[in-house]
Amino acid sequence: MLTIAIANQKGGVGKTDLCVNLATSLANNNKKVLLIDIDPQANATDYLTSLKAEKTAYNLFLDDETHIQEIIQKTCVKNLDILPSDTRLSAAQTMLANSVGMQFKLKRKLGILSGYDYVFIDTPPSLELLTLNALTAADKVLVPVQVHYFAMEGVANLIKTIDAVKEDLNAKLELGGVVLMMYDKRNKLSSEVKKMVTDTFKGKVFKTAIPINVKLAEAPSHHKPIAHYAPSSTGAKAYKRLAKEFLK
Ligand code: ATP
Ligand code: MG
Repeated sequence: MLTIAIANQKGGVGKTDLCVNLATSLANNNKKVLLIDIDPQANATDYLTSLKAEKTAYNLFLDDETHIQEIIQKTCVKNLDILPSDTRLSAAQTMLANSVGMQFKLKRKLGILSGYDYVFIDTPPSLELLTLNALTAADKVLVPVQVHYFAMEGVANLIKTIDAVKEDLNAKLELGGVVLMMYDKRNKLSSEVKKMVTDTFKGKVFKTAIPINVKLAEAPSHHKPIAHYAPSSTGAKAYKRLAKEFLK
């Protein structure tokens, strides 16, 4: 079981999109996948489900009695399960703030999990306690970088945080890769940003970039991942390629 946190404290760069659609593409490749949503915005949860869950990541973090298996649900995608989130999770940050081992909560609960090839964790746009829990529980971190002028803003802080987690909380954590998101090949800036990101992250950038695609923007409101909402769209094709590259 490989646990992968998707993180970038910059908002709206495509974390949730990458998490939902890469997880789906892997599930469509016959891998057993679990998506854990620990963002209080619950965007991944809303993307993949349309019913309100009774127990969510909130219970996972704050209710010691709750077993992880009680919270996990099936999704419309075969081989893809979800551990949903809800807005109550925003309170978890303060409620956990003074508890011993507060960064290890998620890791402990994941310890008893089995039967999945991949576990993806969608994180909120911050480097605070919830994201620290994801980085502490993960083997690898994937960083989506939106291709625009401010792409690298905050990246130095993110790298600093990953290094600090490695040092103090999770020695095995590795940068698994960087994915360029919302790439627009007609825009000259895109190739400039791509070069800047490649220079910074050297061999860590995936060759497959996810293009700007209106179908990707529409899919969440239909509660279907792109592979099911618009399988022949450029977005769906890109995620298929990304999954292949990821599996290599
Ligand atoms: P947050 O930091 O708030 O969690 P995020 O990093 O998870 O945001 P997303 O929610 O994945 O970012 O993406 C932001 C918005 O852009 C969403 O409305 C999403 O549907 C849209 N979007 C993401 N990727 C693409 C794309 N390649 N083409 C078009 N729209 C996209
Ligand atoms: Mg998100």
